[in-house]
Amino acid sequence: MVNLRELAQQFEERFRNAPRIFRAPGRVNLIGEHTDYNEGFVMPAAVEFSSLVAIAPRKDRKLLIQSNQFPGDLEFDVDRLPAQRTGTWRDYVLGVALALRQHGSDLQGANLLVHGNVPIGSGLSSSASIEVASALAFISLDSKRFSLPEIAKLCRQAENEYVGARVGIMDQFVSCMGKAGHALLLDCRSLEFQFAHIPAGIELVVCNTMVKHDLATGAYNQRRAECEEGVRFFAKADPGIRALRDVSSEMLERIGGDLSLTIRKRCTHVIRENQRTLDAARALGDGDLARMGKLMRESHESLRDLYEVSCRELDAMVAAAEGLPGFIGGRMTGGGFGGCTVNLVREENAADFSSQIAQRYCQATGITPQIYPCHADNGAQELSLS
Ligand code: ADP
Ligand code: MG
Repeated sequence: MVNLRELAQQFEERFRNAPRIFRAPGRVNLIGEHTDYNEGFVMPAAVEFSSLVAIAPRKDRKLLIQSNQFPGDLEFDVDRLPAQRTGTWRDYVLGVALALRQHGSDLQGANLLVHGNVPIGSGLSSSASIEVASALAFISLDSKRFSLPEIAKLCRQAENEYVGARVGIMDQFVSCMGKAGHALLLDCRSLEFQFAHIPAGIELVVCNTMVKHDLATGAYNQRRAECEEGVRFFAKADPGIRALRDVSSEMLERIGGDLSLTIRKRCTHVIRENQRTLDAARALGDGDLARMGKLMRESHESLRDLYEVSCRELDAMVAAAEGLPGFIGGRMTGGGFGGCTVNLVREENAADFSSQIAQRYCQATGITPQIYPCHADNGAQELSLS
C-alpha cells in the first residue's frame, strides 16, 4: 500500500494545497476467459495493488497532471483538452475527464498527482485502476453524481475511444465494485453481478511469465471473428441466439457436429467456460476448493487445446505449480500468448509456493518470472487522511 501521508505531503509541497485522495485497485480474473465479448460470465477479484489519485481544485482553468511513476510536467487548459490522444500515460486521465464532461460533469481547473503500485503491463490492469481513481477524483470536484457502475462504463469508454484499446468492461467494473475477500461474478451482458466469498486463508498468487508474443492482437481479432461465425451458425437453428452466451451445451452437442473443426473448438471453449464460471462461483460459495481448483485446471486446458491461446511459457508456469504444497488450482489469466497465470494457494504456503514456482519456471524456460501474491480487496473509494 502506498503511504497516504507521504503522498499528501508530496502533493502539498508541489502544489501548495491539501488534496483529497482516491484509490482504485487492479484486478485478476479467476475464471471466465474469452467469454466477455461473447456476452458471457467472468469472475475477477480486485487486488491490493492500486493507483492513488490526489486532487485539489485550482482557481484558474488549468489542469496539471503528474505521476510519480512517469516524470514530466504538462499543463492543459480544461476548456481545450486535446481532442485526440497524446500517446502518453496522460491519455488515461484525459480520456476519463472528457468522458465525464460528455456525460454532464463540469470540469474545473485542478492539480492531480498519481501514485500507483500496480505492476504496469503485467496483467493486473494498471490502466483500469488509474482510470477509475481519476474518475473518482474529478467527480469529487463537481456536483454531478455517478453510480459506480456508471463510472466503470465511462472509464471503459475512455479506454476504448480515447486511448484506443479494445477492452471489455470487466477491469473497470471490478475496480469499481470489488469487495475484500470476494470474487465478483459478472454477467457481461446485463452487468448484473454477485459476490462469491473466497474462503479465509487463501491467497491469489499471480505469476508473470514475462513474455508477450506478437501473435496476441491478430489472434484476438481472429478468435472474435470465429465466435461470430459460430453465432451465425447457431442463429440459423434458433434466431433468438445473439451471442455464444445463448447457446446451451445441449444445443452444441445436438448440432455442433456440423461446424468446421476449428469453429467447433472455439465455440466449445466459450460455451463450457461460461458454465465453468457459474460453477466456480458456486464452488467458492460452498467452500469447495477442490472443485474450484479442478475448474481452473479445466479452464486452462480448454484455453490451451480448444481456444488455442496459451503458449509454451504459460503452460510451463501452469505445470510448475502442480504438486507444490498448498496449491489448489491455477490457469492462464488474460487474453493469452503470454502474460500471467493465477493460482489459488493456501496462505501458509504462499511464500514457499512463490519462490518454488519461480525456480521451477526459470529452470524450464530460462526466464526469471515476477510473482505477485495478492488478496481480494475492496473496490474504488476515497481514502481518509485523518
Ligand atoms: P495493464 O495491463 O497494466 O493495464 P496497459 O497497457 O493496459 O497495461 O496500461 C498501462 C498504462 O497505464 C501505462 O503504460 C501507463 O500509460 C498507464 N498507467 C498505469 N499506471 C500508471 C501510473 N501509476 N502513472 C501513470 N500512468 C499509469
Ligand atoms: Mg490495461
